[in-house]
Amino acid sequence: TVGAVAINEKGEIAAATSTGGITGKLPGRIGDTPIIGGGTFCNDSICGASATGLGEAIMRANLTSRIAHLIENGTPASTAISAGLQFMTDKIPEADGGVIAITKTGEVGFQFNSHRMSWAYVQNNELHYGIEHGEDNIEPL
Ligand code: ASP
Repeated sequence: TVGAVAINEKGEIAAATSTGGITGKLPGRIGDTPIIGGGTFCNDSICGASATGLGEAIMRANLTSRIAHLIENGTPASTAISAGLQFMTDKIPEADGGVIAITKTGEVGFQFNSHRMSWAYVQNNELHYGIEHGEDNIEPL
């Protein structure tokens, strides 16, 4: 899965998620990726968010919608993502995933509890990137 979120100088936010789905998926499975509030969320007045991971769990947790709601109520982006992932794994312990988000103020957040997730962002003309490992990497940055 590849996810992207962006904000322009007018405060317009975009979010996009593209996936091949999961191994062994049934014919006709749609997955979480195109479900707004599941694998993808975007609202100029809150944030953009894009998720990867076990789609069935992401949908059941309304993962990006939940994260957006937390951000809307003032939770920092990475903290909101950690809380969303925790909610998901509380319900479905085997679920893994990761989320990137950008808020209406341009704050970037990303967290994951999957084995690894590569991430990158540009802020103030500076490129930040990483390929991180670890199941315990869901603490706020
Ligand atoms: N979320 C995707 C799906 O379940 C898979 C992925 O992110 O790798 O279809």
